[in-house]
Amino acid sequence: PDTPAHDPWADLNPRQREAVEYGTGADAERCGPLLVIAGAGSGKTSTLAHRVANLVLKGADPHRILLLTFSRRAAIEMERRAGRVMQAVLGLGGQPPSLPWAGTFHAIGARLLRDYATRIGLSEAFTIHDRGDAEDLMGFARHELGFSGTKSRFPLKGTCLAIYSRAVNSQAPLHGVLARHFPWCAQWEEQLKTLFGSYVQAKQDQHVLDYDDLLLYWAEMTREPAIAAELGATFDHVLVDEYQDTNRLQAQILLAMKPDGRGLTVVGDDAQSIYSFRAATVRNILDFPSQFSRPAHVVTLDRNYRSTQPILDASNAVIAEAPERHAKQLWTDRASAQRPQLVYVSDEPGQARWVADQILARRETGVRLMSQAVLFRSASHSAGLELELTRRNIPFVKFGGLKFLEAAHVKDVLALLRWAANPLGRLSGFRVAQLMPGIGPANAARLLDAMAESGQAVQALAGFSPPAAAAEDWKVFADTFVALSDPGLAWPAHLDLALRWYGPHLQRLYDDAVVRQADLDQLARIAGTYGSREQFLTELTLDPPDATSAQSGQPLLDEDYLILSTIHSAKGQEWKAVYVLNVVDGCIPSDMSTGDADEIEEERRLLYVAMTRAKEDLQLVVPQRFYVHQQSGMGDRHVYGTRSRFIPERMLPLFEILPKARQGAPAAAPAQPAVRVDIASRMRNAWR
Ligand code: ATP
Ligand code: MG
Repeated sequence: PDTPAHDPWADLNPRQREAVEYGTGADAERCGPLLVIAGAGSGKTSTLAHRVANLVLKGADPHRILLLTFSRRAAIEMERRAGRVMQAVLGLGGQPPSLPWAGTFHAIGARLLRDYATRIGLSEAFTIHDRGDAEDLMGFARHELGFSGTKSRFPLKGTCLAIYSRAVNSQAPLHGVLARHFPWCAQWEEQLKTLFGSYVQAKQDQHVLDYDDLLLYWAEMTREPAIAAELGATFDHVLVDEYQDTNRLQAQILLAMKPDGRGLTVVGDDAQSIYSFRAATVRNILDFPSQFSRPAHVVTLDRNYRSTQPILDASNAVIAEAPERHAKQLWTDRASAQRPQLVYVSDEPGQARWVADQILARRETGVRLMSQAVLFRSASHSAGLELELTRRNIPFVKFGGLKFLEAAHVKDVLALLRWAANPLGRLSGFRVAQLMPGIGPANAARLLDAMAESGQAVQALAGFSPPAAAAEDWKVFADTFVALSDPGLAWPAHLDLALRWYGPHLQRLYDDAVVRQADLDQLARIAGTYGSREQFLTELTLDPPDATSAQSGQPLLDEDYLILSTIHSAKGQEWKAVYVLNVVDGCIPSDMSTGDADEIEEERRLLYVAMTRAKEDLQLVVPQRFYVHQQSGMGDRHVYGTRSRFIPERMLPLFEILPKARQGAPAAAPAQPAVRVDIASRMRNAWR
């Protein structure tokens, strides 16, 4: 209708506006790169969305805008936000232009590599290994080189991959990586080099790339000045959110594509850098101003729009204790009498009950489940709470946990799709072939070798004689494979074929086939949201959809549900009420990291990230007895938790301490509110 166009620029403060307008007018030719460095909740992401909208409104072609975010979800959200701004300005109904090049570095890398594959000696049909597959391939290589004997103390495949990945992403020599991060493996340097050589060879022979390759090949490609220039010219504007969590390869890529920095915008917060365990380096953002041939324009924002002053005070206090100085103290005009709460509970079950009670109580006051989130240091910490929520029928979605894609039955189906897309991929081939009773490793290898030799998968399949026991399954499989290899097949028909093929195997392999079928149904449901088989396989591997509570099933889109998330995956988001679990030493900081001062500081930033997600209510929960998993093989045990060292005594006045009775000394667990059940009306309703 004719509602007058709301002016979205009016909401911006002067410095946000500066960031939105910089270099978008007559000054465009003269301007260098733009850096927005600012604290949590100061509007970096929304400024970036406004900037994108502004660029498009001033005539930039959305197809020539590259927008790099830290998750697929964040990319979709950014596109939506920019779209809303455009609509508001133009006063239009209808669809604002979409941003086809919005995504994570890895997903965009995969697309570019597919476009450039033939020019850089890659097969266009490459498939992507997830961490599990990458580990397995590393394991094969390790085995083939004879490093895996039982007496050998050679690092396990997971460690080997971690070392390799670290070296690749930090672009550092192996020697230094071992000395600094894996000193106990340093003696194996020579063997590791050999191993990594074989691993790379195996990937190339099989036309597979791992996660790191997506950045590595992209960076490698940009070392060729002609290609770098071409790529740089493909995008008039490159914008990056959460820049503090990028690694050296990512910085190199940007520098190569935009050597003078023109058209490049990055935003981030050095106090929120939490991915150095994946070789991200805060140096990227600190060095940014002087890396390009033109100096960067730097904008800082210090007004927080997200949280109330008491939440901000507590968060500021936590980060202010960091030995490394972070830029800014944030302020807000959102006064509140409610301090964040520090809640002592008896143990983890007590914590789960407390949090569930709080969530329901808030919902009673009108705070939807969707406006509340429970955050934790590591994905396993929510197990108890998940049970409690399920028991009480509170629907939830879990971010950053074990993905349903890692389930064996889902992997089986995906393996068939991958194998048909790339017949040289041996891991998927092995997996699929051996699903047929009668076909073991030897026969599977024979088939894969034949495929590799002939280069004609379908022909090799026709010429293969399966063992008698597998004859029937083989026929069904071969027909399916041939159908899947038809280039004319339109997505998502591939998935339908694969699921039909898999049905009998699922029934045969699992007692709980019914439960597992639900995962496959979910796969089918989401398939349609991807444009092609390639996109489905790529994006699913790189950025799997969030796991839902298995028992309560996938919440419907219009249903209200709670968010459970690791702190790492909660980056950039906000909720009215936030509960942080296990704020005890050993969890935050994690006992995995105790020791190295840099790692401890990263844990402090992690707590800061968690606290700054809250808009109105923040609770840090401290169980006084909690379970730890012992690394040393002593089994799991209970320990007495002490409040996280990041909240020392002198900060306590910034919090409200619960239960109230507690005066410093450990108190009894809070009494549980009596459960009320309206049996009477239930009885009546049963007959309605
Ligand atoms: P983080 O560091 O956590 O990623 P951020 O700096 O990206 O935070 P945003 O998520 O962009 O911050 O913004 C935080 C909240 O503040 C959002 O709800 C956003 O809509 C709101 N906000 C940002 N700028 C303004 C403004 N000028 N006026 C009102 N609200 C604003
Ligand atoms: Mg943000």
